[in-house]
Amino acid sequence: MADLLSQLEALARSAREAIASAADEKGLEELRVRFLGKKGELSQVLRGMGQLPAEERPRVGEVANRVRDEVEALLAGAARGVAARALEAELAGPPMDVTLSGRRLLPRGHRHPVTRATEDISAIFARLGYEVASGPEIELDWYNFEALNIPPDHPARDMQDTFYVDESTLSPGGRTGVAPGGPARPGAVLLRTHTSPVQIRAMKRIGGPPIRIICPGRVYRSDYDQTHSPMFHQIEGLCVDEGITFADLKGTLAAFARAYFGPGTRTRFRPSYFPFTEPSAEVDVSCSICGGTGRKDGKRCGTCKETGWLEVLGAGMVHPRVLENGGVDPRRFTGFAFGMGVERMAMLRYGIDDLRLYFENDLRFLEQF
Ligand SMILES: [Zn+2]
Repeated sequence: MADLLSQLEALARSAREAIASAADEKGLEELRVRFLGKKGELSQVLRGMGQLPAEERPRVGEVANRVRDEVEALLAGAARGVAARALEAELAGPPMDVTLSGRRLLPRGHRHPVTRATEDISAIFARLGYEVASGPEIELDWYNFEALNIPPDHPARDMQDTFYVDESTLSPGGRTGVAPGGPARPGAVLLRTHTSPVQIRAMKRIGGPPIRIICPGRVYRSDYDQTHSPMFHQIEGLCVDEGITFADLKGTLAAFARAYFGPGTRTRFRPSYFPFTEPSAEVDVSCSICGGTGRKDGKRCGTCKETGWLEVLGAGMVHPRVLENGGVDPRRFTGFAFGMGVERMAMLRYGIDDLRLYFENDLRFLEQF
């Protein structure tokens, strides 16, 4: 027993010394583990109690408890001292400089020019009372072609190199194959080549005029060069009601062109052909780069190729057969539709000359917007 008691005495002495010279919180924690921890020195000593006769154990236990209480009290006192010294040191040091510049924030993102153009164009038409509609990008041949007055043998199908979906690969969990060309069957599944199928879907969904919708979205064609990308964005507009005329179409698009390209913008309509409108027109606006003069800084304007005009829209009065396919009575209602390429609208607004820049996601390009 005397042996154990002297070991406890020695433990208390070395704990007092060590704690008195501990410098910081970390040192105190190490000492707590060393003396009082589960595998610490006190536990080691008490392991020897098992060999003592039963009547001697209470005496040793009492001393051990006293040593534990003392070491705990010393650690707590030392911890208070350490905290007080740290506070004093901080107060004595140089004051906090509130004029120091803050930590740099991560660079802010930019909206893609195509997104910006889509939002700007949609906002203009929203002010004219149009609502935004959308439809699927994987579309049925019927909506993409047939319902828009483009039957299977129609030459307009060749104008739009279509990606057809290989339906044999359309299985749950399977991969979907897409290939250009293929059969022009009414039930075929394809990637929509324009946003026009949304016209049909919207007419059916809304269930009848008045209809004023704008449909922005991705479209797909098998084409890739400086002015063509296999995926690009269109915005389609449709207005159907009683007594809608070509004058309404002209007024609406002229108002849009002034809102998007600037107040002085002029528009002109040239006769054209689309299967889904009759009559049809290509719509030009006066060049936003040279102001329609064809010359910029004494040089020829490359954007409009010196003509002073930019082709920006296709439009026309909705073909009666298309209205019928949308469930609208063409004897009572008329309407107009128009479509534009969003990349082109953004190019003309921001002076971008290569379509491919949009899709390479080069930050040096995107950060300019
Ligand atoms: Zn020009």
